[in-house]
Amino acid sequence: MKVPFYTLDYVSKTLGPDLQSAFGNVLDANWFIRGPRCEQFENAFAGYCGVQHAVGVGNGLDALTLMLRAAILQGLLERGDEVLVPANTFIATVLAVTAAGLVPVLVEPERETCNMDPSKLEEACSARTKAILVVHLYGRLADMESIYGFAKSRGLLVFEDCAQAHGAQLPDGCRAGSFGRAAAFSFYPTKNLGALGDAGMVVTDDAELARVVRSLGNYGSSEKYVNRYVGVNSRLDELQAALLLEKLPHLDSWNARRREIAERYRRGVTNPRIVCPVAPAAPESHVYHLFVVQCDRRDDLQAFLAARGIETLVHYPIPPHLQQAYTEPSGSEPLPEMRHGALPVAESLARCVLSLPMGPGLSDDEVAYVIDSLNEFV
Ligand SMILES: *Cc1c(COP(=O)(O)O)cnc(C)c1O
Repeated sequence: MKVPFYTLDYVSKTLGPDLQSAFGNVLDANWFIRGPRCEQFENAFAGYCGVQHAVGVGNGLDALTLMLRAAILQGLLERGDEVLVPANTFIATVLAVTAAGLVPVLVEPERETCNMDPSKLEEACSARTKAILVVHLYGRLADMESIYGFAKSRGLLVFEDCAQAHGAQLPDGCRAGSFGRAAAFSFYPTKNLGALGDAGMVVTDDAELARVVRSLGNYGSSEKYVNRYVGVNSRLDELQAALLLEKLPHLDSWNARRREIAERYRRGVTNPRIVCPVAPAAPESHVYHLFVVQCDRRDDLQAFLAARGIETLVHYPIPPHLQQAYTEPSGSEPLPEMRHGALPVAESLARCVLSLPMGPGLSDDEVAYVIDSLNEFV
């Protein structure tokens, strides 16, 4: 049997006719940028997240960067301020902080959840720390109660990177994207809610922040040929918005299927060498963008599964602080934590994490085959 890591064609197949007709409508309308479909999707997604405002942008990295730049332009942050960021994340989280002229201070993850460890916030904090950029990694909500409590006690702003957590929610219904001052989403094709190309969004209850993000993404202009900020071109186009509008109503059922698969993995994998992620206390607080196991012989396990036709990936093999971009930055000194050994938990996770096949298109037979194979690994 061949089990691909992720089957993108599942969604295209199940929603094929809807996506085709959405495409046809955009073609007929002959309006491709900053039109009614973008606005409609922004409203729908803001409503879904439980916030007042949403601004479509070109991709997730731009959403993160423009969100932080807007906070600076609003006077909430100043260039040079320190922002606490998880050490175990996709590079884009850290790139956004440095691109906005802020200083990332990396916080070790908890080994069990792989998310930012709230007990490490205190030591990472300095007089220059002004914000925390939380990541809900792999689709699991970070410990928002502890993180928010800490932020409040120190007067820090909270921002969220929700690129992997569309729809993750607490029992009270609070969803990813509604916990901080503002949040950034990516609709990269393989995310839980994905476009058929690049797309991203900033969501917030702060009307002024939303206004500045919208302007920044449109050359720094709110009025044609009048430029208030040094902006960029980063907008959600009508076609992607129309396709995302078709997909959004299915997000909850796709996430439910991901949770079901996660439970099968968790119940089925009995091999003591392989550690499954612990189940969160609130089941819906995890949307399993990825199902990441830990194994001290990760590379052997990956090769063993590959020989059985099972495709797996590593998220992430090199943590941001060990990337050359930061260990040998051009024109500046590396930050103190940007060296080997500085963040041992993040570094050890990079050696032992392995992402199993996951996605709404994965069949029960495929899951059973992956489980059997995992249990045969010695
Ligand atoms: C995918 C991702 C991003 C970046 O999104 P793009 O749309 O690819 O730019 C940022 N942060 C995290 C955690 C991601 O997984």
